[in-house]
Amino acid sequence: MNIVLLGPPGVGKGTQAKRLRTALSLPHIATGDVFRTMSTEDSDLGREVLQYLNRGEYVPDPLTIQIVLKRIHEPDAGKGFLLDGFPRTEAQAQALDDDMRKNGSKIDVALYITAPQEVLVRRLSGRIICPQCHAIYNSATNPPRRDMVCDVCGHELERRTDETPEVVRTRLETYAHETEPLVAYYRRAGNLAEVDGSRSMDAVEHEVDKAVGLQVR
Ligand code: AMP
Repeated sequence: MNIVLLGPPGVGKGTQAKRLRTALSLPHIATGDVFRTMSTEDSDLGREVLQYLNRGEYVPDPLTIQIVLKRIHEPDAGKGFLLDGFPRTEAQAQALDDDMRKNGSKIDVALYITAPQEVLVRRLSGRIICPQCHAIYNSATNPPRRDMVCDVCGHELERRTDETPEVVRTRLETYAHETEPLVAYYRRAGNLAEVDGSRSMDAVEHEVDKAVGLQVR
């Protein structure tokens, strides 16, 4: 099964993707994590990627598309994948569709999680992540057991450098401008499943499971 997760920053795509990865045994490909790792590399490309991230702007399509298409052809994605944070532009969506069509495949579900802007800003401002295993916490709603230490791998937790109020604003604007049109793109394709991400965690999980055909409680 091939799934893409659509939705604004802070809506909970990563949290749902991590859950689905286990439930569906699919690789979770999060372009944000890929670029954060690249941005720590001591190379011209690493430094260039860091600049985009710190400004809250998108990494250019040609590089992003090249990385993702290569990744989805790796053996562990043979039975499908969960794409989290890709596609984010129409060019990316089209490149993905073209590539899949060539291989006789398609996107089965575009899972679109939504929430009002004030909910997103509140969530993003409390978010803490593990740079090692990419676990996600929130200082207000989902704190780690030990202050700033990852429950999963014990690594020290960090705030993301792109979650200052100013960069968050740019990221939300870029999303509205570049990525929101993809909702119509997948609606036209007939595979959009919409989930209200501002509801309780249980309600969101229930809706997500239903959308991907998992047995619901
Ligand atoms: P995320 O963790 O998904 O919020 O992504 C963090 C940052 O990585 C974004 O603000 C972009 O700078 C970059 N990024 C992630 N995915 C993409 C994509 N599909 N296209 C362009 N830039 C991306």
